[in-house]
Parts: sequence; C-alpha cells; structure tokens
Amino acid sequence: MTPQEYRLRPNHCPLCDSTDLEGDGSDHSDGEWHTYGVLCNACDATWDDAYELIGYVNLVQGKPN
Ligand SMILES: [Zn+2]
Repeated sequence: MTPQEYRLRPNHCPLCDSTDLEGDGSDHSDGEWHTYGVLCNACDATWDDAYELIGYVNLVQGKPN
C-alpha cells in the first residue's frame, strides 16, 4: 500500500493489510510533521503515522485573568 492509499485506509497495515495494529507510544513533532509510531501485530512491521497540521477546531475561550 502506498502512503497515499494508506491515507484512505489508515487502520490497515501497509504490508499485510491486517487491522491488528497498535501504537508503540512514540510521539514526535518536528514542527511540520507530527508522527506516531505504529506496530503491526500480524507481521511485526513498524512505521510512523504522519500528521500535518491543517488548522484547528473546537476553539473555546478560557476564563479571563
Ligand atoms: Zn502487517
């Protein structure tokens, strides 16, 4: 599965198509990309899910100081 195809099927392993995936707890940000490590329990592949900031949602104003 290419990264583009993976965007449409993000809960499937890119190599074996299993849905038995688990986050490995790693969480990195370099400013442009946010990545989360993923492990496939079926074939032991690992990769990083990559996220790009597209804006924000659900902004709620806090109490004034
Ligand atoms: Zn797999």
